Amino acid sequence: RAKEDGRNTYKFYTEDMTQKVFERIALESKLRQSIKDENFMLYFQPQINGKDNRIMGIETLIRWEDGHKNFISPATFIPVAEETGLIIPLGQWILRSGMQQIVKWHADGLYPGRLAINISMLQLQKHDFISILEMLLEETGCQPQWLEIEVTESQIMKNPEQMILILQKINKLGISLSIDDFGTGYSSLSYLKRFPIDTLKIDQSFVKDLSDNEEDKAITKAVIALAESLNLRVIAEGVETEEQKSFLVSNGCINIQGYLYAKPMPADEMEKMLRGSL
Ligand code: C2E
Ligand code: MG
Ligand code: MG
Ligand code: MG
Repeated sequence: RAKEDGRNTYKFYTEDMTQKVFERIALESKLRQSIKDENFMLYFQPQINGKDNRIMGIETLIRWEDGHKNFISPATFIPVAEETGLIIPLGQWILRSGMQQIVKWHADGLYPGRLAINISMLQLQKHDFISILEMLLEETGCQPQWLEIEVTESQIMKNPEQMILILQKINKLGISLSIDDFGTGYSSLSYLKRFPIDTLKIDQSFVKDLSDNEEDKAITKAVIALAESLNLRVIAEGVETEEQKSFLVSNGCINIQGYLYAKPMPADEMEKMLRGSL
């Protein structure tokens, strides 16, 4: 193709790539500085029981404010943090801050359910991950049963045998595990049975077109049936409409997360919601 289009195209590609490389380097150095300055915030999104509308858990989602009131999406900077190794200090900050927050809510007599924290596989694979978890639990006074760790299906399935061993250790500590973005990562069913997990999270790409896409309906029902037969909890993310929610609830997925109930919010707003005053 490049050959057909001739030299100009080639020049265009290289300039475009140089631009991308510069942007990447700039992003990386901003990220490095922001980790030092702790320019991150945890946001929280409730997970709701769609039958009684109670909060059954909360997911932690990181936000990065670049110092100029710009919010950079985790979908942009988490991959850069992973490629540069910065996910290790950042991931530890996320774990510590999440644990401190859940301890505070419990101390205030609030019942937030489990706090789910997204963890990158690179962080999980570090040889000292388990000892860091133990250290942070001790340091913050967080009970392991207050926590849930989310790993994406595609990351888990990159190296399932190794992941089973790590997940077993986390499970032994008393921390729950869930598979995020389920349905997009080609799990083999035999592995799924061997992972010591509690929850499958139906990926939002299936939820999005639930009202008019027959395939997405079929996939969603299949995931719910799979969870049921493996005795796992199932939760749907990205639920934005009543129609999506009622399809999910009437097909057996009662746990709902999405804008229909609430967008991710700062800790003080989450606290108001927990107190029932929002
Ligand atoms: P995820 O863990 O699958 O999180 C769900 C994403 O969907 C979040 O995007 C959330 O804000 C968004 N969302 C929730 N409800 C709705 C809805 O009803 N409609 C739509 N359109 N979106 C909804 P966010 O916060 O931008 O995070 C994107 C991804 O970045 C996350 O996907 C996760 O993979 C990663 N991420 C976020 N926070 C962390 C973190 O603390 N650590 C790590 N390692 N990754 C994180
Ligand atoms: Mg998640
Ligand atoms: Mg997800
Ligand atoms: Mg995702």
